[in-house]
Amino acid sequence: MTGNGGIPFSDLVTPHLEMEEELVSVFRKALKTAGFVGGPMVEEFEREFSQYCGAEYCVGVGSGTAALLFALIAAGVQPGDTVVTVPNTFIATTEAISQAGARPAFVDVDDRTYNMNARRLQEYLELQCCLDRSTGKLVNRKTQSPVVGIVPVHLYGQMADMDPILQLAKRHKLFVIEDACQAHGAVYYSRKESCWKAAGSLGLAAAFSFYPGKNLGACGEAGAVTTNDKVIADKVRMLRDHGQVQKYSHEIEGYNGRLDAIQAGILRAKLKHLPEWNQKRRANARRYDELFRSQIATINLPYESPRNRAVYHLYVIRVKNRDQLQVRLAQANVTTQIHYPTPLHLQRAYAALGYEKGDFPVTEKVAAEILSLPMYPELEHSRQKAIVQEVINSLAREALASRKPNLGPVAPTERRAAG
Ligand SMILES: *Cc1c(COP(=O)(O)O)cnc(C)c1O
Repeated sequence: MTGNGGIPFSDLVTPHLEMEEELVSVFRKALKTAGFVGGPMVEEFEREFSQYCGAEYCVGVGSGTAALLFALIAAGVQPGDTVVTVPNTFIATTEAISQAGARPAFVDVDDRTYNMNARRLQEYLELQCCLDRSTGKLVNRKTQSPVVGIVPVHLYGQMADMDPILQLAKRHKLFVIEDACQAHGAVYYSRKESCWKAAGSLGLAAAFSFYPGKNLGACGEAGAVTTNDKVIADKVRMLRDHGQVQKYSHEIEGYNGRLDAIQAGILRAKLKHLPEWNQKRRANARRYDELFRSQIATINLPYESPRNRAVYHLYVIRVKNRDQLQVRLAQANVTTQIHYPTPLHLQRAYAALGYEKGDFPVTEKVAAEILSLPMYPELEHSRQKAIVQEVINSLAREALASRKPNLGPVAPTERRAAG
């Protein structure tokens, strides 16, 4: 039993109620000035978030998906290009690639971090691609499509292994756009620069989502691009506002992709709490690790590499009979989720890319075993204990059930029923 009428997957109510006055005052301020889109609140948030990420520029946009799309277009993606990413991510990563006119190509992930495996990336670039002598560009051997960029995803709040990815990108003249939509505040030790770097400060640009459930969430849709490159920042600023440099002066065709002032004001208020919230998520992750310590023979716990400080957007365990465990936990009123159950290369939406089952064995194996446990800053110790106890009980029951047939001969009728 879990008590308290069940354990939710996340808690978006408590932090907002605690900040209610401050959040409502943002709305009052917007009402008084009728400044609803863009304006000073957006600019102030952009300044503060760029500082938080250690990036020169931040451009607020309407969503994480728009941030990815605008970053890719600003990086110079042309129709028919190929952009490399991973198959175990939210579809927004590849939607942005396709909607920028490019073709997504996948490489498999590391079996401990679930992030892009730099060795697989190298194999892709050096075995499946070659230099086109007439253009001097790297092209995919099969499709002849120019390979122009890499989008590593900092999944679950841990950054991808950026040093080798950036090195390969440099060697092959590719851009790197970080999908940092799950990694606000995550840091990575760069051997090249001998210092810790935050998500959003390493690639040519990075995309953040402020969807309500993210570590930093708006009260609606919002996103941002961070970059150290002024040309990219200016281009994204144009793209989000119909390609305008001044009102009704359109340099290019752009999008309606601006950030609402109310959302920016809310994000400013919440950004002040983000370091503390991320600390609490990390502490909760350590507590889960500790509570599961006796179970490491049957449960794969999240692996945090020594070069990473993850912010645990999600706490993801891996078990053999995942679906059964999820059902049992649901019966005990513990809500869990799966991020993500079907890898992108096996989605119907990407059938035309021609991938098959077996193409990315690590991603496929992991997708069948992962389970995201409740994770949020306010998650209480007592609830974590109850969750872990339920997981352990479920796995024990399962082990018992799978041993049962060996306890004695099975009656013929039972055998028929089981078949
Ligand atoms: C949430 C998310 C996105 C998309 O962000 P939206 O704000 O929902 O558009 C993209 N990539 C990843 C990895 C995400 O988790």
